[in-house]
Amino acid sequence: MTDWRLQGQEKYLQGAALERKAYQPYRPEWEHDHCEFCSAEFSLDTPGALREGYTTSDHYRWVCAVCYEDFQEMLGLRRG
Ligand SMILES: [Zn+2]
Repeated sequence: MTDWRLQGQEKYLQGAALERKAYQPYRPEWEHDHCEFCSAEFSLDTPGALREGYTTSDHYRWVCAVCYEDFQEMLGLRRG
């Protein structure tokens, strides 16, 4: 079964260690990010945006809790 959210993320997220954290921008001047899978917005400024999620140790990639649960097994995601 193909999920619309899968767009080749397995190339860089296969077996990735993701840590659950409060959202923080990759660079100070960035104000938001999007879930690697469903594009849900992470932001501290936007009303209704996600305030926490699963992220790589450098805070470059962000995955929402729903997608983490959905793709954890398929991609072999680990807790960072
Ligand atoms: Zn998502």
